[in-house]
Amino acid sequence: METIFCLLHTDTDGSLPKAALETLGAAKSLNAALAGSTLVVGLVGVDVQSAANRVASCGAKKFVGAAGADFAQARYATDAAAAEALCRSVLATVVIAPATSRWSRVLPGVAQRFNGRADTHVTGLAVSGSAVAINRWYYRQRMEAQMSRTQRPWFLLVDPGSQPAWQGEAGVAAVEAVAVNLPEACQRTTVTGLREPAADAQTIRPDANLLFVTGAGWTKKQADGQTHVPEAEKLIRDFLNLTRASLGSSKSLVDLGGEGQAVLAFLTHLNQIGQTGSTPRHPKGLSTCCHGEEPHTVGWRFISERRAISLDPNCGWARGKADVLYVADAFAVMKRVNELLAQKAG
Ligand SMILES: Cc1cc2nc3c(=O)[nH]c(=O)nc-3n(C[C@H](O)[C@H](O)[C@H](O)COP(=O)(O)OP(=O)(O)OC[C@H]3O[C@@H](n4cnc5c(N)ncnc54)[C@H](O)[C@@H]3O)c2cc1C
Repeated sequence: METIFCLLHTDTDGSLPKAALETLGAAKSLNAALAGSTLVVGLVGVDVQSAANRVASCGAKKFVGAAGADFAQARYATDAAAAEALCRSVLATVVIAPATSRWSRVLPGVAQRFNGRADTHVTGLAVSGSAVAINRWYYRQRMEAQMSRTQRPWFLLVDPGSQPAWQGEAGVAAVEAVAVNLPEACQRTTVTGLREPAADAQTIRPDANLLFVTGAGWTKKQADGQTHVPEAEKLIRDFLNLTRASLGSSKSLVDLGGEGQAVLAFLTHLNQIGQTGSTPRHPKGLSTCCHGEEPHTVGWRFISERRAISLDPNCGWARGKADVLYVADAFAVMKRVNELLAQKAG
């Protein structure tokens, strides 16, 4: 009989991140499909009551919480101690948690404390025969495996964006408080504050509906024999501001910075999509001034609706990589698109 333990942490404002609701939905479905199992929800944060109330109707048999100022910030020692105490208190056998940066760096270590096992990049949970089975990705999401394990507890980190978010009524949940023995090591690390880029400088937005990809063409000589990098920067920035799309890039464009060439100032290697970059999950993608070569488009594996603007009618996008290819000058197209978006917005 499995105890399915959905382990969540709150955001700093006390709310639950979207990834937490997705994980809860997956845990609930698994519990419904598995004979004799029990669903328990665990919460970590400064005050976990309002988060528990938010998911009160999820069908969990019990809610347990580790709450207090010690759990305000992500910190290995306190987060691991809280996760360990909660898992012990409910005798968890399958621990399901969202793969947020906070849980991703802590839970494999917590699994070691139990002599359990941990799997990351989980994108599916099901019952195979009478056992829990998962789908997970390996090798930068290029190979998918379906697997089960007999070792318990089994810690599963569910990839954000891979599950529909749980939706249900809020209510009043009775949260059982679990005491956490904080090790002395906790005192060694003090979180003094957060430094983060201004909202507009943050161009990677995993929850955006649209991935907007920029390619090296934006920095190449155009029909007039000149480059137009400042104009490209403005067109791209305006589009991102108007749509709140997430910004991706080809490798060639982000690499140009390392060669000292004129590049778009707000791009880094973190924006790179592809074989040696990331494989984000957005419902739609629009590629501009990018050739659509295989090492790039392999990063579009999870983008369902794909469009591209390129001057080259024989580019990779034309060879089955995009649903629609506009053979056109992206400078002209994006200028007009921005005008239409601004009109609509204002
Ligand atoms: C081992 C390996 C791993 C790699 N990993 C990655 C990876 O992870 N991600 C990745 O992106 N690449 C990767 N690459 C590189 C990849 O093969 C391509 O070289 C790269 O994606 C090309 O980038 P690009 O399309 O932006 O540039 P280019 O090939 O220079 O293409 C620019 C395009 O812009 C178009 N263009 C120019 N001006 C305009 C305009 N005004 N309007 C419209 N279109 C215009 C041109 O027609 C052209 O099609 C990898 C390569 C190798 C060998």
